[in-house]
Amino acid sequence: MIELRHQPMELRLRHTFRLARGDSDARQNLVVELEHEGLVGLGEAAPIARYGQDQASAARAVETMVERLNERAINPRHFATAAQSVAVEGQPSATAAFDMALRDLAGKRLGAPLYELLGLDPTATPVTSFTIGMDDPETVVAKVREASRFAVLKVKMGSAGDRKVIEAVRSVSDQPLRVDANEGWTLGEAGAHLAWLADKGVELVEQPLPAGRIEEMRQLRAMSPLPLFADESVGVAADIPKLAGAFDGINIKLMKCGGIGEALRMIATARAHGMQVMVGCMIESSLAITAAAHLAPLIDYADLDGNLLCVNDPFAGATVEGGRLVLPSGPGLGVQRRSTEDE
Ligand code: MG
Repeated sequence: MIELRHQPMELRLRHTFRLARGDSDARQNLVVELEHEGLVGLGEAAPIARYGQDQASAARAVETMVERLNERAINPRHFATAAQSVAVEGQPSATAAFDMALRDLAGKRLGAPLYELLGLDPTATPVTSFTIGMDDPETVVAKVREASRFAVLKVKMGSAGDRKVIEAVRSVSDQPLRVDANEGWTLGEAGAHLAWLADKGVELVEQPLPAGRIEEMRQLRAMSPLPLFADESVGVAADIPKLAGAFDGINIKLMKCGGIGEALRMIATARAHGMQVMVGCMIESSLAITAAAHLAPLIDYADLDGNLLCVNDPFAGATVEGGRLVLPSGPGLGVQRRSTEDE
């Protein structure tokens, strides 16, 4: 028998997060614990409201998953397939938490960090970007100064003041930039912005057009001077083949795909289509961020800063040194709960 516990976790944001879709000050995530043979595996769900999920639906989903696991006598040691075989439809963030907890448990049982279970070199991690949310130019300048230890910045665009934000960043920094338009442009706007952004030392642009506009994306890519990455247009591996030729790469998020197992399939599928791979995140604590960071040796770009945007991260795990992700060497995810004094 495997035992489940879950607790709500509110993550408070350092700065109000302004996106093309709306503002937010805090996120309501869920911590999942799975206990088996005296060991406890940890996982985290960051439910996505856009896809009809919240803390309560994620909690119900992990309860259903553990019932299915126990009823069907699925051995949680078979962590590679267990989470997907009991997944609740429409609740990928809960499935991701369950998958994470099973892999954490497996690593703790075997005394090996997750990257070792995956056969990956923990030192082969890319630099990770730090997100500068949409704001007035003065606030953007202050945020960029705070972010000087990051090798790459990611700037959210998709509003009327778009170019002013980039100009404000460039007034104080020559760091490489990535831009995330969060579906905020039309085809015409995107064409004009891309030429201008290429001139400003931007290295890639994420999701310029609304998720379903794949044919328009093909036209845009044919004239784009910059690599274009899918985020809202891609959830799981099966979404990738139709994106070949429309995007240069994909952004994988554990909360959208349902965990490390599906993320590995997405990486393989993207590679088979000659596409590049980024791993991104939602607003997540160091628990889920560290789980995603274990995939870093397999990817081209990392965008794992959700934990760094919060003021009350209850966990410690992967860190950023010299702009690069550093993986913890403890067994499983290698994540620890911070003692309350460190908060
Ligand atoms: Mg994005």
